[in-house]
Amino acid sequence: MKERLARFMQGRYGIDQFTNFLVFSALVMLVLEMFIKVPFMRFLLNTLSIAAIIYSYFRMLSRNHNKRYSENERYMKFHNGVKFFIARQKSHMQQRKTHHIYKCPQCRQSIRVPKGKGRIAITCPKCHTEFIKRS
Ligand SMILES: [Zn+2]
Repeated sequence: MKERLARFMQGRYGIDQFTNFLVFSALVMLVLEMFIKVPFMRFLLNTLSIAAIIYSYFRMLSRNHNKRYSENERYMKFHNGVKFFIARQKSHMQQRKTHHIYKCPQCRQSIRVPKGKGRIAITCPKCHTEFIKRS
């Protein structure tokens, strides 16, 4: 039995971060469904979670490694983007008491300025545009 399973799994793609994400979101959707009363939303969550589980099985058993690998790459890019965005928001929140963060009107570069210095001229470090703000 164990040998048959091993033979069956041979050459299959297996589990990666994207599969973990699919299974995890399926679980989250199933839990959410328990708290939602709108029938259409429940149906939607149910369908999506089942689809996510079927898709994760399909990926695990797939023999097309290249395609699965590039799917995972795309997922990781998205994942890292979200992670970076959250880390940035968090650091902005932490600095809010002592610093202002302005955007350069020219190139949208974020510039951190200490608070409580009155009207100041800020020079963008990237494109050297000068603008005046209250800090
Ligand atoms: Zn600039």
